[in-house]
Amino acid sequence: MERPLTQHIPDNGAALHLREYEAVGGYSALRKALRDMEPAQVSTLVKEANLKGRGGAGFATGMKWSFVPMNVPGPKYLIANADEMEPGTFKDRWLLEGNPHQLLEGMILASYAIQATDAFVFLRWAYKDAAREMRRAIADAYTAGYLGKNILGSAFSLEMQLHTGVGRYMCGEETALLNSLEGKRATPRAKPPFPQVSGLFGKPTIVNNVETLSWISHIVNNGEAWFKSLSYTADGGTKIYGVSGRVNKPGAWELPMGITMRELLEEHAGGMRNGYRFRGALPGGASTDFLTDAHLDVKMDFAGVAAAGSRLGTGTMVVLDDRTCPVGFVHNLEHFFAQESCGFCTPCREGLPWTEKILWSLENGTGEPSDLELLERHARLLGPGNTFCALAPGAMEPLQSALKYFREDFEQHIKEKKCPYAHHQH
Ligand code: NAD
Repeated sequence: MERPLTQHIPDNGAALHLREYEAVGGYSALRKALRDMEPAQVSTLVKEANLKGRGGAGFATGMKWSFVPMNVPGPKYLIANADEMEPGTFKDRWLLEGNPHQLLEGMILASYAIQATDAFVFLRWAYKDAAREMRRAIADAYTAGYLGKNILGSAFSLEMQLHTGVGRYMCGEETALLNSLEGKRATPRAKPPFPQVSGLFGKPTIVNNVETLSWISHIVNNGEAWFKSLSYTADGGTKIYGVSGRVNKPGAWELPMGITMRELLEEHAGGMRNGYRFRGALPGGASTDFLTDAHLDVKMDFAGVAAAGSRLGTGTMVVLDDRTCPVGFVHNLEHFFAQESCGFCTPCREGLPWTEKILWSLENGTGEPSDLELLERHARLLGPGNTFCALAPGAMEPLQSALKYFREDFEQHIKEKKCPYAHHQH
């Protein structure tokens, strides 16, 4: 199986630098596009490839680009969302640290397609190694003529900047990211208008995930049929999947889109560690619904995981084992979400700390029988449509599904007035 995104990432953790990237065909897609393709042809190609956004939502990339008004004068912006902070998710970090030019080439091609004037990498604060590699890659790309005025002698010009965030989960939400980049408080904006029409400084803006953008040069080089052929299902390409938890070989792997949970868990993550049994997993980072062993044959593409009642999200699975308390597991997540709420809208600001408090009291033996109904009510009130952005609805996904699949554990905490797992956990 070909692994186009990660095949040139050195095993020793070092980054592929400019000359090495060029030696394996780097920037040939940019040369090809600037020489032979109109901007609209690049967009059409990406649309036909059926590339779905790898940030978590799976929105069709070519369609997103097609919403940019092309006849409006003035600046347009392209942003790589590299603010990877979803718990359990570490896929973009691999691409940023291992092959920064692949991302830059994708960004330049995407910018050409939408005729952007300026591009930004919005990078997670904690990704210090990635920041160092991106800074170097941007400088080298300018020196080599891949960025700046009249790229490779063409009429197309693009300026590129690296922006490091301040370590808040909220900044990864695309409109909060725009506010942050403008120097404002990182609260989300109402959508519509979508950023494609009114984004950074009110100008047309595309925000794409790092893994999504890392695909563009490969699609330009190899075509849409090739891209589709890499996948097991209708969603094109490969996906960087990850597994964390008490498995033998936690890690991340680039695999055909649509691999089953079972293959991922057993073949790639090496199965559960000795003495631990699989109870369930969040398939795509913390803000997705649990799936259980009844779902192990689910195909992990966007439609497959949705049909099973969850979301593919970032494709990085967090495994729950039989010796870890599901209530404590969810409490830990809600603590994170409550802390990361931007405080802008009331259900999220008030509801998440309350949810966390109830879960804490269950864990500490002071839960009441009415708490389960209260948690369910929170899951509804903080759900889709009641908050300004996807943070609180995402936070409710592990909670509502834990109440469904692990209900007896919640009840046991109340009945026994303690956490029944307390002596198991380490
Ligand atoms: P969303 O579905 O609202 O939007 C996804 C993208 O599609 C956005 O760029 C948006 O502008 C565009 N879009 C959606 N509907 C549109 C429309 N009608 N017209 C034009 N454009 C449209 O999702 P979101 O709130 O941006 O993101 C939520 C996702 O983020 C979740 O799936 C979650 O798994 C993921 N997530 C990822 C991380 C991470 O670290 N990678 C962190 C938190 C959340």
